[in-house]
Amino acid sequence: MKHITHWIDGKPWVGDAKRRGKVFNPATGVQTGEVDFATAIEVDEAVAAAARAFTSWRTTSVARRTSMLFALRELLAAHLGDLADLVVSEHGKVQSDAAGEVARGLEVVEFACGIAQLLKGEFTEQASTGVNVHSLRQPLGVVAGITPFNFPSMVPLWMFPLAIACGNTFVLKPSEKDPSASAYLAELVAEAGIPPGVFNVVNGDKEAVERILVHPGISAVSFVGSTPVARHIYETAAREGKRVQALGGAKNHMVVLPDADLRDAAEAAVSAGFGSAGERCMAAAVLVAVGGCGDALVEHIQERVSRLTVGPGTDPSSEMGPLITAEHRDRVAAYLAIGESEGATIAIDGRDHDIRGDAGGYWLGPCLLDRVSPGMRVYAEEIFGPVLSLVRVETLDEALALIERNGYGNGAAIFTANGEAAQRFETEVEAGMVGINVAIPVPVSYYSFGGWNNSIFGDLDIYGPDGVKFYTRGKAVTSRWRNVAEHHSSLAFPNAAASDKSGMEP
Ligand code: NAD
Repeated sequence: MKHITHWIDGKPWVGDAKRRGKVFNPATGVQTGEVDFATAIEVDEAVAAAARAFTSWRTTSVARRTSMLFALRELLAAHLGDLADLVVSEHGKVQSDAAGEVARGLEVVEFACGIAQLLKGEFTEQASTGVNVHSLRQPLGVVAGITPFNFPSMVPLWMFPLAIACGNTFVLKPSEKDPSASAYLAELVAEAGIPPGVFNVVNGDKEAVERILVHPGISAVSFVGSTPVARHIYETAAREGKRVQALGGAKNHMVVLPDADLRDAAEAAVSAGFGSAGERCMAAAVLVAVGGCGDALVEHIQERVSRLTVGPGTDPSSEMGPLITAEHRDRVAAYLAIGESEGATIAIDGRDHDIRGDAGGYWLGPCLLDRVSPGMRVYAEEIFGPVLSLVRVETLDEALALIERNGYGNGAAIFTANGEAAQRFETEVEAGMVGINVAIPVPVSYYSFGGWNNSIFGDLDIYGPDGVKFYTRGKAVTSRWRNVAEHHSSLAFPNAAASDKSGMEP
């Protein structure tokens, strides 16, 4: 049985044996490991190590930090397959999907390799006569990240590479359900030559999170997970004076206009709805068929799903793996009966899908609920599994109104051949990330990722330019080196424009 420990001050750190969690292989239901659960003691150790490391890390030259990030990039690229294997073994997603998530995380490391350019300030010569002004961005100190189960390598990589590139040190609390990817990332960080204490991992549950939220040594918290927890993280950490970005859940709508290539749109809906068993915050959860194209979409989806292979992620022929836990599988499957009782029809029943896997795995095949409408629980709640709901509307106006009223606002997509409709959708849709004939519009790493409304709490999105702003504080410096003494006789408030007209300096 594998034992997954914390990683503090550049080495594994074994916690109290009394607090441990179980880790399972979702494709078999067999326990494969035990993970240490941190108490305040381990969190405090990690923060102390990070605080010690911060003193020298923040003054380590940008050039050296960059070269270490390049080393990390090379190591990640070389070990992409190993990391993906760990994701498959504890999350359950299929190997190609796991490799994709590592690659999207690697992109953020590549963005962070450009930190020299990203941290540049601005300079104004002669803002007033003999007075120059420049700005700089400085690290915050020790920052923490709390991450969800569904992207065990990518979401940590959304956070810590940029945070440490900016000169911060980091404490990560990954999901307790699939912690091995983070443990492996910590080893790669050490191998890249990044000093002990710069990146630390504490495993655990709510108890570790609660200590992070109130720890006086932590300056900022990045969180990705479900909306109720995101709200709690935001409120608690902000009350403690910390900078917070808390990304929450989603109910993403994919709108299909009748002029779209409906077979193509159906393929996209299957990929975006059932990829990773629907356990993606950018998964298509609601398919909105506009102007009578619903029947054709259902037919194409039924045909595609009849050929969709559900099985273990380790089998290269599998297109979709199991769900994360037996409880979650049962919760997701229960929505079929809930939907039916609310008046929806089950167009595809995933409980009957042919599963090519171990009977102990947490399986549920792709499901399609047809004739769903906004009053229903299956429409309103985040299901986070392979259940796609089809809503039929007459016009694009109705589709836009649905999305606006939904409450979440992570991603939204439109499939159409009509440029005018696409442009209108882009302008009016109430969502932070928009796809036009792209079903999962996750921005590349040099943009930032973030939804709207109940999908995010905080002002700055994650990674990209917002990530740099989140992990740094700005400073503006006004300086004079000429005739310093003679300019301090006046008590008037410094005013560059007035002083230039009068020939006086402020
Ligand atoms: P979760 O909210 O249950 O857990 C996320 C993290 O918070 C974990 O590390 C967990 O240990 C911790 N946690 C859980 N309950 C807590 C509590 N009561 N108090 C303090 N900490 C707690 O989320 P999950 O089930 O791991 O992940 C799935 C959710 O994450 C979905 O809602 C999904 O939409 C969302 N998600 C959002 C994004 C995004 O970018 N917006 C990305 C991925 C996942």
